[in-house]
Amino acid sequence: MQLQHLLGIEYLNPQQINTILDLADHYANKNRTDSRNSNVLLGCTQINMFFENSTRTQASFEIAGKRLGADVMNMSMEASSIKKGETLVDTALTLNAMHPDLLVVRHPHSGAVDLLAQKVNCAVINAGDGRHEHPTQALLDALTIRRSKGRLHRLNIAICGDIAHSRVARSNIILLGKMENRLRLIGPATLMPTDINEFGAEVYHDMQEGLKDVDVVMMLRLQSERMDGGFIPSEREYYHRYGLDAGKLSFAKPDAIVMHPGPMNRGIEIDGEIADDLNLSVIQEQVEMGVAVRMAAMEILMHNSRQNKKEMNE
Ligand code: ASP
Repeated sequence: MQLQHLLGIEYLNPQQINTILDLADHYANKNRTDSRNSNVLLGCTQINMFFENSTRTQASFEIAGKRLGADVMNMSMEASSIKKGETLVDTALTLNAMHPDLLVVRHPHSGAVDLLAQKVNCAVINAGDGRHEHPTQALLDALTIRRSKGRLHRLNIAICGDIAHSRVARSNIILLGKMENRLRLIGPATLMPTDINEFGAEVYHDMQEGLKDVDVVMMLRLQSERMDGGFIPSEREYYHRYGLDAGKLSFAKPDAIVMHPGPMNRGIEIDGEIADDLNLSVIQEQVEMGVAVRMAAMEILMHNSRQNKKEMNE
């Protein structure tokens, strides 16, 4: 598996996806035991650069790195020279000169992380770039689905809400499509991307129709920070038509699982009671799988970079 960076699901093939998920599955089980720490990344310097707010993703990458024995540093981008006008590339080159092994980067602009990866000579993981991709989120969602449903193919999966502005939706659509699932995208026309037909998914504007007999219901947050106009009439109206409540969920299969990447707007895209119902919701498991998937991705990238260095020295 010759991956150098993890920039997007679009660059992975099904075999690579399965390899990451298999290793992550191993870490998910190990993380539930007392022997969850190891030295796999001993001697590696990992820098987390988050140019956009994050709670679970940043914490998850930090825990994952520390659990594998890496030296983890969180750059406070608020306080960094970016605020003094330094460009993203200059900041990356400065950090690169300190010889990190791994940069984990989140940035508000689509494509920024790809650009950065071209300028540095260490591994880069995209922790979310604009509305483009969030590969580790899609992988953790895939692992959660695989563990709940026992497989990751031929499932009916609905992705609901603000598809247009969501990198989570984009990465999931690509991954779940590559693994041969049947995808339905549900939401108002104003929140569908313009290139929707290229995704090979069925599009619905009505929750009742779209959720009929699905195995997985994936809800999305309304990405208000990426909206520059009125995309919905009001939050109340949105909840009425697209918020997941017991009535709408009753159209899905009886054993359907409910997912949400967080942060959640209770009462806007999802009813809080559904989110908290452990018979339906796997939202906490998604967070748990996040650590495991990030451990797996980091181990694979660091293994590859050590191999490359060894070959270059031979
Ligand atoms: N945490 C996810 C992301 O960074 C989902 C969201 O913010 O709605 O894209």
